[in-house]
Amino acid sequence: MSGTFVGMPAFPEAAREAVRDTTLRGNLRHATHTIRAKRAKAVAEVEDWAELREAGKRIKDHTLRHLDRYLEQVEAAVTAAGGVVHWAADAEEANRIVTDLVKATGESEVVKVKSMATQEIGLNEALEAAGVRAYETDLAELIVQLGKDRPSHILVPAIHRNRGEIREIFTREMSEWGRPAPEGLTDTPAELAEAARLHLREKFLRAKVGVSGANFVVAETGTLVVVESEGNGRMCLTLPETLISVVGIEKIVPTWRDLEVFLQTLPRSSTAERMNPYTSTWTGTTDGDGPRVFHLVLLDNGRTDTLADEVGRQALRCIRCSACLNVCPVYERAGGHAYGSVYPGPIGAILSPQLRGTDSEIDASLPYASSLCGACYEVCPVAIDIPEVLVHLRERVVQGGPATRAGNRVVLRPAKGHAAERAAMRAAQWAFTRPGVLRAGQRMASRTRRFHPRTLPGPGRAWSAGRDLPRVPAEPFRDWWQRTRGGKDGAAE
Ligand code: SF4
Repeated sequence: MSGTFVGMPAFPEAAREAVRDTTLRGNLRHATHTIRAKRAKAVAEVEDWAELREAGKRIKDHTLRHLDRYLEQVEAAVTAAGGVVHWAADAEEANRIVTDLVKATGESEVVKVKSMATQEIGLNEALEAAGVRAYETDLAELIVQLGKDRPSHILVPAIHRNRGEIREIFTREMSEWGRPAPEGLTDTPAELAEAARLHLREKFLRAKVGVSGANFVVAETGTLVVVESEGNGRMCLTLPETLISVVGIEKIVPTWRDLEVFLQTLPRSSTAERMNPYTSTWTGTTDGDGPRVFHLVLLDNGRTDTLADEVGRQALRCIRCSACLNVCPVYERAGGHAYGSVYPGPIGAILSPQLRGTDSEIDASLPYASSLCGACYEVCPVAIDIPEVLVHLRERVVQGGPATRAGNRVVLRPAKGHAAERAAMRAAQWAFTRPGVLRAGQRMASRTRRFHPRTLPGPGRAWSAGRDLPRVPAEPFRDWWQRTRGGKDGAAE
């Protein structure tokens, strides 16, 4: 069973552990910088990217505004095509529905396509408790499952593992779950991929039940869409006799024409590909082709509450591309586990507190897990203004009272070995929490501005050589405000 996020500490506490891990920081830095550079190149190829982004935003907003109508349309279309639609208000109900459906087939194992919705509800754990073993078939998910680990990235759940660690996990764990790793397995990508392929192949051919999520559901025909890169999804969606798909209610797009927009923006934003290697679509059941039984479980689990929030609802536009994770300076340093959710990074910081509420320490702290630099908004293919939602949620947390006390301050400490950085942060923290000292320091800095060096001395010389140090103004902002506005609204003090 994979580890769960139950009882996670607040983000600052969890992040503090992560930023001390210099190997993890190195792995994350390398991976996120590589993906973000490729994405930027792939996006720059498309002349009408801004229009596509705007179209995606509008399609999602329109769908969310009329979600009741489109959900009914989906139910009617899927039913007419031979599928069975189930409605799940929360994780517990969804898990019960899926477990009962699997039990009814008489099977004790299922193969799974990578799915955020099933991770969100903890389906694997619920199936395990009911005596059903779920096999993850996406390569990164397989690494996470075999390593009894937790995912740390939406698209690359094992981004925190390097090749040596993966080889060790395969060698140690594969025999517990089925076909063992080949003798003398090395850490070359081709050998690791081949080991996973051989291990999974027997499961694809044996399993009678497949479980998936969906990237999109096309309302006009009741068609589900899964995009992926490895082909494992295609195997899970076509070989089993029974297919059960758990899908968040926000995944709907009205028409195939609308889908076309996202099939252009999603691959470039996520894997920096022009199109996905595998795009699978299915509508109910088809005689002599694919699964004979199809169940669609439509999942709410906090989504209608999110929809009711005028500012926060834009988080439901998310198409899970993970571009915002790859550009986020906080994610790059803290890693995915600190977010205490299957949704890490900037989108996790606004989605988890809305889906789960802000009562727990971790959820109350997530809106503060950001520097508000805005890089996430810049890259988002559906233009979710994540900084706006973060500020909005901070307001909600502050108004939430004592239950949310743990989240009001984020103190990210730099890793060991950065003594100067650590000392600077401590000094800043000391000054910023003493308004009188800060004010006196600002006045002193203004008066002595003519004597300020343009480069830093000692170890700071290299840092300042490539940067222009900002000039200190002749008069501090607070004094200027006091002088020109007379401190009428108290802002100067
Ligand atoms: S918030 Fe935007 S950038 Fe982040 S995963 Fe969702 S769609 Fe992608």
